[in-house]
Amino acid sequence: MRHKLISVLLAALLLAAVGTNAAAADAETDVVVVGGGGAGLIAAIEAADQGADVIVLEKLPFVGGETLISGGAFQAAGTELQEEAGIEDSGEDLFKYWMKASHFNSDPELVREVALNSAENVEWLQEQGMELSDDVTRGAWTDKVPKRVHRAEGGGTEFIAALEEAADDAGVEIYTETKGVELIEEDDAIVGIKAEGKLEEVRAAAVILATGGFGDNEDLIEEYAPHFADTVPVTTPGNTGTGLLMAKEKGAATAEIFSAIGYRTVEDYAWDSPVAGLAMQPILFVNEDGHRFVDESAHYALIAQALGKQGGFAYQILDSSFLADLPQDTQDAVADAIDDGDIHEADSLDALAEDLGIPEDNLAATLDTFNEYAAEGTDPKFFRDPDTLTELDTAPYYAVPVRKAHLGTIGGLKINTEGEVLTDEGTSIPGLYAAGSVTGGFLGPVYPAGGSAIAMVIETGRAAGRTAAQE
Ligand SMILES: Cc1cc2nc3c(=O)[nH]c(=O)nc-3n(C[C@H](O)[C@H](O)[C@H](O)COP(=O)(O)OP(=O)(O)OC[C@H]3O[C@@H](n4cnc5c(N)ncnc54)[C@H](O)[C@@H]3O)c2cc1C
Repeated sequence: MRHKLISVLLAALLLAAVGTNAAAADAETDVVVVGGGGAGLIAAIEAADQGADVIVLEKLPFVGGETLISGGAFQAAGTELQEEAGIEDSGEDLFKYWMKASHFNSDPELVREVALNSAENVEWLQEQGMELSDDVTRGAWTDKVPKRVHRAEGGGTEFIAALEEAADDAGVEIYTETKGVELIEEDDAIVGIKAEGKLEEVRAAAVILATGGFGDNEDLIEEYAPHFADTVPVTTPGNTGTGLLMAKEKGAATAEIFSAIGYRTVEDYAWDSPVAGLAMQPILFVNEDGHRFVDESAHYALIAQALGKQGGFAYQILDSSFLADLPQDTQDAVADAIDDGDIHEADSLDALAEDLGIPEDNLAATLDTFNEYAAEGTDPKFFRDPDTLTELDTAPYYAVPVRKAHLGTIGGLKINTEGEVLTDEGTSIPGLYAAGSVTGGFLGPVYPAGGSAIAMVIETGRAAGRTAAQE
């Protein structure tokens, strides 16, 4: 899966490299933004709207980063879209949810800004020309909170397309295939960045790091988020932690918590393929001993935690009647995966257990109990919503190998609510700002709800752009 994504992106890189032979030059501007993903484009638009001349450096041949492949969904509370849908909500309640979900590990100042400004940030996105879906959904750990997930119509692709157009309209200059490599420091202030690509150096009154997380850097994951080492990364190849490393060299502090957005997938299948989609369905997971270990309908970040306790691996079990109800393209993809030996198929549960190396009695007992629960409409083991339980008793049976994965990292540079990068002493580094997933402090150790990362990206991007423009 990862290989497929990376090979597509590498092909784009090669094609772009063939067409690039202009000599690199130096540039001077008011604000230089390093990283042209969601946070970078938002920071650039905001700084340009305040009257600053802005240059964006993006190391890949296209802008968007992880935000481009995301669902383009973000949490917001007290919005007009919620009101129109009859949903009562407030920024205060969203603040309380995020703080509790982080066990009060998150920086309350940052969380307050993201939560209380979330409704205004939705309006700002709409002013930039972004079309939002009317359908506000939930995406949280619990159904006891209001529906708060707002989504760009067309997902991450359209989220980025709208920002790219708004940046263009605001006069932002974007240099793709241009990588920021080292911050330039003079008289204890950051005054620019050395680059590789179409520019060699950009001098600026303010540098905003918006380089995303380090999901594509195994060494940094091992160092900062070891509980996500050996999990499948679902990210983009630009996210290697360069901004984090560059700022640390200049004395930047990091926020305490490092982790990743827990997810699950089927290895070697694109995360949005029909086969990987089966891993996301609430059916039945068993561990390598054949035991059930989680409420399969729980939030994906929580199931990733549970998978971690099983060595990062489990089997999704289904039967032929479940399979027959799936869309035809999924059934065809499953048939191909069986032919390729990636999904196991067997005529009986015992044969399936033998094929998987699971004790036969264990798998049989788990299925018997699970089918009893489904028939009775109750789950005394995990109290899973009975409406989601399905009997699995029609041969042939299938096992889909599911691995713990992540959708990019959590944690990074310590910033304040103005987007200034801080030192261990709590002072700001003059001229240096950061936004988005290169920063830390907002998300706690376990991802709290779908749409939380981009909610933070929007607020920190806007804050850093605004403050940097004042330099
Ligand atoms: C499949 C998937 C789905 C997701 N869906 C959602 C969702 O719906 N809602 C949500 O809240 N979160 C979602 N997330 C998480 C979310 O997308 C990210 O946390 C968020 O987009 C990060 O935004 P960013 O601007 O900080 O980084 P990015 O959007 O990744 O941008 C960083 C950019 O910086 C560039 N860059 C890096 N280093 C340099 C350098 N040295 N010089 C120049 N450029 C550099 C990168 O190439 C990249 O383009 C999802 C993640 C994935 C992987």
